Amino acid sequence: MKRVIVFLMLALGLIVSVAPVAADDAITVTTSQFTCNFNKNMLFQVETQSRAEISKVELVMQFDGLPSPFRADAKFDVGNKIQATYDWNLQQKYLPTGVAGQFWWEIEDRAGNKKTSDKKTFRVEDSRFKWQTLAEPRFALYWYGGGADFGKAIFARAIQAMDALQKDTGVVVERQLQIFLYDKRADFLGAMEPNVNDWVGGRAYSDYGITLIHVGATDLAYGLVATPHELTHLIIHRKLGDIGTVGFPRWVDEGLAMYYEFVPPALEPEYETLLKRAIQNDTLLPLRTLSGNFATDARQASLSYAQSFSVVDFIYRRYGKEKIAQLLAEFRQSGASDDIFRKVLGVDTEGLEAAWRQDIGAKPRVIPTRSGAPTPFPTFGLSTDATSTPAPRVASAATPVPAPTTAPRASSNPISQLCGGAFSLIAVGIFAPILYRRARRI
Ligand SMILES: [Zn+2]
Repeated sequence: MKRVIVFLMLALGLIVSVAPVAADDAITVTTSQFTCNFNKNMLFQVETQSRAEISKVELVMQFDGLPSPFRADAKFDVGNKIQATYDWNLQQKYLPTGVAGQFWWEIEDRAGNKKTSDKKTFRVEDSRFKWQTLAEPRFALYWYGGGADFGKAIFARAIQAMDALQKDTGVVVERQLQIFLYDKRADFLGAMEPNVNDWVGGRAYSDYGITLIHVGATDLAYGLVATPHELTHLIIHRKLGDIGTVGFPRWVDEGLAMYYEFVPPALEPEYETLLKRAIQNDTLLPLRTLSGNFATDARQASLSYAQSFSVVDFIYRRYGKEKIAQLLAEFRQSGASDDIFRKVLGVDTEGLEAAWRQDIGAKPRVIPTRSGAPTPFPTFGLSTDATSTPAPRVASAATPVPAPTTAPRASSNPISQLCGGAFSLIAVGIFAPILYRRARRI
């Protein structure tokens, strides 16, 4: 009997030693590499080997700030020792400069062994230029056109705006936001996805917390306004999240962005003039129409921005900072804007408008019978080319961004993502008020 047991034990031991063993260290990763060829591709490569044939190599990318990782099968020739590659074509699946995260590999062999490689970082970089950087934990500014003072002045203004917004509303910037300033128009256009309209002056990729702006090295005044304006949008949209941003009235969004362009807040003289004239002539636009896209007409668009600033300024003065903070918190939860205004301010849009008009010395507006849905202006887009006509052009031709399969979702409707309306992961920003200024100045 004892012999039989010994024999059985030996036999079992033999079987165990002959059968493939799934072990953690069966698969080894020799090298794991990342190369970015800007606006061409991102190349992820891994060299790995195992005692059994490698059967599956999956690349996992975790984008900073995005909840779920992107996964894709890498290409390789089957064998025990292989080199696998995943080629992310940036022409087809565009990502702006500054997008970063971590990647790793999940490898399997035919014996059932599995291996997860160490994590490494990746970053999309526009390597065409020698970027200068100023950064603090909440914000990083990149530029190459102007000298150190150029960037320093813009950075200081942006930080000032961010501090003021944070102090007023309690909005905390948890992850670093990035703004890239492109000196030349051609450089800027070359940094974006193919076939983008050449009148676009800036783009916000809200969910990555990245904005690209065309700001010439000789146009410091524009950079000083555009940067805090766009930074405010990035901060607010991040605070609101995807859901909150959808229902967020455009006038609140643009009004806040304009409010923090200057510290203390101020309306530039040309807007001031427009607003005063509209008060005198009783041609102020109904506030409700500013909830959606702004007018395509240049003058009305500028007036829309001026009014947006004025109403936001009024809310700050009349109701207090904490009410703005409360509004943001409520919109984050989503809901009808009138319900939110009533809850926080005690008035609906028309009630707020009436109080605001009285405050700025405008006549009471004769409120037409409400038809239910607000009447939006036509879609608003602008030429960003200072040499072209200042009259805006419709943004309907804006190019949708092709989508990677999972992580970065594509913009479903670029029109809804103009400056101040960046709703989805990849958003398109067009910087309207500034462009008017610009067009006028040049
Ligand atoms: Zn804006």
